Order: sequence, then structure tokens, then C-alpha cells
Amino acid sequence: MAHPMKHSIAPHSLSMTFHTCDYCGQEETRVYAVHHNIGIKSCDEHYKLAKRDCNAYLHSTKRVRLLEKNSDINKFRCKMQGTFSVKRSSGILEDGWQLREEGFVDPLYIEKVDGDWTFPCCIPFKGVTKQVSFKDMTHMLEQTYIDSILDVLEKGVYMKDYIASGVQEKHEEPVFVKTVLVDGVEVRIFDPFDKQ
Ligand SMILES: [Zn+2]
Repeated sequence: MAHPMKHSIAPHSLSMTFHTCDYCGQEETRVYAVHHNIGIKSCDEHYKLAKRDCNAYLHSTKRVRLLEKNSDINKFRCKMQGTFSVKRSSGILEDGWQLREEGFVDPLYIEKVDGDWTFPCCIPFKGVTKQVSFKDMTHMLEQTYIDSILDVLEKGVYMKDYIASGVQEKHEEPVFVKTVLVDGVEVRIFDPFDKQ
């Protein structure tokens, strides 16, 4: 049976899925991930759709990639090069922080947490990480600059993709994947024996 073309799809768990493009059903050649093992599979032709739909998902979950190639985000990364001080919850400024560097597994995000836009920081070699609020950086960044970057984030770096993506279809699970509840949490399991 021909695979019906999907126009927009939501990122989903990539484990226990076929190696096929989520849009056209042809062989998968690329993966666009939003978190470790969560994303969209595509062929070369539909990679742009995968990127667009992942961006739409990030827009709706109030996230922007720290490494996004956007002039405002580039400028922000440049401003934050090297180490800087960060206000701890006690109100004390602590030196030696820097932007987190992206590792192999999870992309890093500027994200809205409890109504505040934050960016990922760490103290290298200490294993200490923190999402730092832009609003708490007045000791280092000008208020006008903070206001302007918050304005950019609030308007939505991925707004265009969010509009173009529209209503996203849910990924259809292969027949051998079942969802069960474990301690009240939905978990996907591999069930090769259920042939229904
Ligand atoms: Zn395709």
C-alpha cells in the first residue's frame, strides 16, 4: 500500500521505529533531533520539513537552540564568550561560569522556565550546571540589550516555521510497539508477539 504523504508531523521517540521517512515512507537518510532519541526521520527530499516541524515543536515548547544560526542568538553567544559571574539563589555573584558547550547527546536550549527566559551555563570541570535567567544578568549586560533579546525570544525565533508547520500529526507507532503504564508513566515497549 502506498504510504500517504504526511504534511506535518510531531517529533517522536526514534527508538523502535522503521528506517523510513516520516513524510513519504521512503528509506530514511537523515534524522533531525530535538532531544536525545527524540526527533523526526526523513529522506533527503523531506529533511527541510523535518527541520521546520522540529522548529515548530521548539517554538511551542518555548525553546531556542543555543547554537541556532540566527543573528541575534549569534550576537548573544559572542557577548557571553569566556567566563562571567552568575547570581546564585542567595543573591551572591559567583565567578567562573560560562555557557555550556554542546555535547554529543543532548542539544542545549535557551528556554522559558517558570515564565523566565534562561540560558544554559556551567562551571567547567565542577559538574555544576544552571539555567540562568537573562533578567539576572544586569551586572554584565545592559538593560536595553536584555530587553531586546527578550523581545526576540518572546516574538519567537521559529515563528515562521511554527505557522508553516500548522497542525502536526502524531507519529504512528509500528505494530510491534505497545504503550503500557509503569508506575503511572506511559512507556513504549517492544512486543513482537502481538500480531493483531
Ligand atoms: Zn521523504
